[in-house]
Amino acid sequence: MYSEKLASAENIALCSLTQNRYREEDYLMLSGIQHFTFCRRQWALIHIEQQWNENLRTVEGAIFHKKAHDGYSAEKRKDVMISRGMPVFSPSLGVNGICDIVEFHRDDRRGIPLHGREGRYLVYPVEYKKGQPKEDEADILQLVAQAMCLEEMLECEISKGYLYYGEIRRRIEIQLGKGLRQQVREAFEEMHRYYERRYTPKVKRTKACNACSLKDLCLPRLMKNPSAKEYISKRIEEEKED
Ligand code: SF4
Repeated sequence: MYSEKLASAENIALCSLTQNRYREEDYLMLSGIQHFTFCRRQWALIHIEQQWNENLRTVEGAIFHKKAHDGYSAEKRKDVMISRGMPVFSPSLGVNGICDIVEFHRDDRRGIPLHGREGRYLVYPVEYKKGQPKEDEADILQLVAQAMCLEEMLECEISKGYLYYGEIRRRIEIQLGKGLRQQVREAFEEMHRYYERRYTPKVKRTKACNACSLKDLCLPRLMKNPSAKEYISKRIEEEKED
C-alpha cells in the first residue's frame, strides 16, 4: 500500500511544483522540531553542528522507537489499516521524516480513497514516546508536523492524531487546530533560517538544561558570561580567601 501511496504523493508533489518552497536537498529532519521546541540551541548543536551526546534517556527512547517501527510494514485489523515506519515529506515545510504509525480508518462518507483499496479512509498519525506527557509542546508539534506532511502527500484533511506514552501505557488524542499548524510552520521557517546561516544560538539557561542530553557539550555553566560587576566581586572574594 505504501509504495502506491508514495507514488501518488510524488505525483501530487510534481503537479504542485509551483507551490513548492524548498528543494529536496534543503529538507530538514521533521523530528528536529522536538529538539527545537525543547531548546533552539540544542537543535542547532545536533542538526547544524552534528553533535550528539547520548544519555540514558535518549538511548531508551531510541530502543522504544525501534520497537514501534523497525522498517516499513502494514497490517489490517477489521476496518483499520496500520502502516508502521511510513516515510513522509512536505515540500512546503521543507522537511521529511518517518511516522511511527499511520492508521487508516474506513469511513466511506468522510474519508479519502486509497489506490487499490475498497472504500474511503480517514487518516490518523500516531507517535510513540517512551516516557510520559511533557510540559512543553515538543511532542504535539512533531505529531502536527507529521499530519501536515500526510495532508500534503495524500491531499486530505486530518482532524486529529494520537501520542502514545509508554510510561502511562495509553494514547492521548490531539486535535490538530489552526494555531498548532501555524506554530509548526513558524518553527520550520525559523529552523531553515538558522540552517541557512549555520547559526547556533547562545546558551540560555533554563530548567530544561538539567535534563538535556547535550549539557556536557553545551557547557551552560562555563558559557554563562558574568557581568563585569559580578566578575570583580568574585575576584575580590577569591583574593580575600587566599
Ligand atoms: S544545556 Fe541548556 S542551553 Fe544547552 S543545549 Fe541543553 S537545554 Fe539548551
